[in-house]
Amino acid sequence: MRRAGAVVAGVLSKLQEMAEPGVTTAQLDRVALEMVAEARAEALFKGVRSPQARQPFPGAICASVNDEVVHGIPCETTVLRAGDLLSVDFGVRLGGYCGDSATTVAIGEVSPEKRRLMDATKGMLDVAIAEARPGVRWSQIARKMQQYVEDAGFSIVRDFVGHGIGTKMHEEPKVPNFVSRELLADDIFLTEGMVLAVEPMVNAGSYHVRTLANGWTVVTKDGKCSAHFEHTIAIVKGGCDVLTARV
Ligand code: MG
Ligand code: MG
Repeated sequence: MRRAGAVVAGVLSKLQEMAEPGVTTAQLDRVALEMVAEARAEALFKGVRSPQARQPFPGAICASVNDEVVHGIPCETTVLRAGDLLSVDFGVRLGGYCGDSATTVAIGEVSPEKRRLMDATKGMLDVAIAEARPGVRWSQIARKMQQYVEDAGFSIVRDFVGHGIGTKMHEEPKVPNFVSRELLADDIFLTEGMVLAVEPMVNAGSYHVRTLANGWTVVTKDGKCSAHFEHTIAIVKGGCDVLTARV
């Protein structure tokens, strides 16, 4: 899982470097595919099917711009412009094990509000990384994540949550970024050796989202911006290791 995580981290670093005004999300997708082939890994998102969508997901990456929350489809006509927020989500399987990570990138100069949204979402993931260790219940961490981002005046997307990860990208348990009755009733007791993909999605406005007619792209209902950060973390003695950490 460390090796898969390192490939994911390398691709996201490269795409972050490339993402600037004038670049299309299709160009980013092509580079991701080339790097996956070079690493002899498998891009996890390409070809995924959804009951809501007629077409399997066509991209190796999800590229979601501004009010797009997740599952944005890379496209030749989506040209990045200064002031955009781009969220890139990416996962691979290597040697039978998966890595999954996402980051939000500012394209050129972005508004102070967008910058604050990005920083709060990244900060929320950092809260989870600082708190995750054996013996802790996930609801304790989710409460701190939720408080952190709601204190900043933003809202946490409810319809998409993190997940266990291993030989498959999505494994049990569900790893929410907020406290719900459901979580409290069936809490996750963190133990050494667990691997989780923690992925807060945070909206500048309300947390409500909807899916576009393509069956994939999820956007905010109010049209306001969204940000997304994700790491695959392994629970180890005394803390956690970020397997998708970028060097
Ligand atoms: Mg992901
Ligand atoms: Mg994920």
